[in-house]
Amino acid sequence: MVNGCCMLAHDVSTADLPQTVFDVVIIGAGIAGLSAALSLDPKLRIAMVHKGSAPESSTYRAQGGVSAAVGQDDSPEQHMKDTLRVGQGSCRRDAVEVMAREGPDAIAYLQSLGVDFNRSRDELSLTKEAGHSRKRVVHYYDATGRHISEALTRELSQRRNIEAMHGSFLVDLLMQDGTCCGCILWQNGRLSVVRAQRVIISTGGYSGIFGRTTNHTSVTGDGIAAAYRAGAAIADMEFVQFHPTAFTTLSGEVFLLTEALRGEGAVLVNAAGERFMFNYHPDGELAPRDEVSRAIASEIKQSGQKSVYLDARRFGKDYLADRFRQVYSRLAENECFMERDLIPVAPAAHYTIGGIFTDLRGKTAIPNLYACGETAATGVHGANRLASNSLLEGIVFGRRAAQDINGTEVGKLLSLPSIKCCGLQYMTGSRELEKDLDSVAGVVRHGAEMSALLKKIRENVSTRAAYESIIDYQDHNACQLAILLLEGALLRTESRGTHFRADYPHKDELFLGKHIIHRWGREATLYDE
Ligand SMILES: Cc1cc2nc3c(=O)[nH]c(=O)nc-3n(C[C@H](O)[C@H](O)[C@H](O)COP(=O)(O)OP(=O)(O)OC[C@H]3O[C@@H](n4cnc5c(N)ncnc54)[C@H](O)[C@@H]3O)c2cc1C
Repeated sequence: MVNGCCMLAHDVSTADLPQTVFDVVIIGAGIAGLSAALSLDPKLRIAMVHKGSAPESSTYRAQGGVSAAVGQDDSPEQHMKDTLRVGQGSCRRDAVEVMAREGPDAIAYLQSLGVDFNRSRDELSLTKEAGHSRKRVVHYYDATGRHISEALTRELSQRRNIEAMHGSFLVDLLMQDGTCCGCILWQNGRLSVVRAQRVIISTGGYSGIFGRTTNHTSVTGDGIAAAYRAGAAIADMEFVQFHPTAFTTLSGEVFLLTEALRGEGAVLVNAAGERFMFNYHPDGELAPRDEVSRAIASEIKQSGQKSVYLDARRFGKDYLADRFRQVYSRLAENECFMERDLIPVAPAAHYTIGGIFTDLRGKTAIPNLYACGETAATGVHGANRLASNSLLEGIVFGRRAAQDINGTEVGKLLSLPSIKCCGLQYMTGSRELEKDLDSVAGVVRHGAEMSALLKKIRENVSTRAAYESIIDYQDHNACQLAILLLEGALLRTESRGTHFRADYPHKDELFLGKHIIHRWGREATLYDE
């Protein structure tokens, strides 16, 4: 390691570890990694590494759909305008433009790979979601992500040049003279090395470091943490989107109720049974997510109850059980029937805007290292993500990273470096961290509480203890990313989009268009493009 450090507990001679060699290694098999893999030149030898099963990925869990300007009354310009408005002055305009313009082609690409979206007569059936001025969400009932994940994985299994490495955990990146040359994996309780000329990180976000989250608990931002330790620039970590309508199951799991429900006409009511969203925003239930989450948090505070309610009773059972088949059956398993009952809902950590800073081709600050999907900070979401833009971002920038690699000579393999560890171990148990983040870094934040939590995490670092399981590595990453999140949230002394500080409740022009950047061994800084 030259730029940063490695989280291993001791320095490692990589020459002693089992090795494999590829042209490109992709870490993460969600929509971003799969789109990249399928778009790379089939002459390249590719490793597709992933730690968990498909249902653990956020892609598989996505319900609502993919946004793209495919409607008769729509245009990429309109899509761009909506994305910029919801992003509240923090989007990177060129990235938004690329995503909106390439949206219709991304949908056609998915269709070419066997993804059949719902249609009405001869046209794609479109839903309107919060913040969109047009109906533009292409979907497959309420199981869009699963449908896409299965189609792309099926296609991948037919490509002879791609080797899938299941159950393999990215520990750290291999660096030689500031250039990425592969990665270290943890597989079946052992370390191994994958050498490659290009590395793509597509490991998803970090919402799983919160306790109340719509993500799987393994979504701990490992790729972002590894890139940070290797010296990449990490941006916008304070922006975490809380989905307004998450349901808690009888077993205590948190389950998302897609925004498409509100898009189709379901309404929110408080403990007194009154609709309240128009008291907070002129768009009512279809206000941007940050506004709806804050309104719900305020109603919950006033009533002293744990939730507000989603009311979808105006629809008949037949419609609900067909259009929202996944949600309907999950709620029914929990003795809640949408045509009959009010559904208790409250916000939960859902999507992380921050990540590895990239350019429009997925390139990071480290040569030969790319990032795409929720792991990356392309700047398309600004301070608040427009609903259903993330699956689109994953496809568009996954394909762009692949096209960039296809257009360059992959070059020769770099020599194998030894690994220098940073010897840090975070002692805070992940359960405790999750609860702390829920209460301190949630929908409403306070500077004093965030400073106290940051101090607590930093004081719980010791040195040179061994990690023996994936959970240990994930806990380390969770602590490291919690620190970046809190540092960013403290530095941003304003409220903008998903980041709301009760001690700084207004926007500050100083932060307009600025990103907070973290780099290993340096103070976090404000970056102006
Ligand atoms: C419940 C839910 C509903 C959603 N609904 C929508 C929607 O309707 N529309 C929309 O646009 N967005 C939606 N989103 C957001 C969207 O699904 C995600 O942003 C997107 O799927 C992320 O894709 P990705 O490829 O970046 O990561 P993921 O799909 O999360 O995939 C990450 C991959 O990385 C692997 N990985 C992670 N860490 C490691 C490691 N250390 N080593 C090896 N492999 C690793 C995982 O195993 C996985 O294969 C939703 C999210 C959730 C949670």
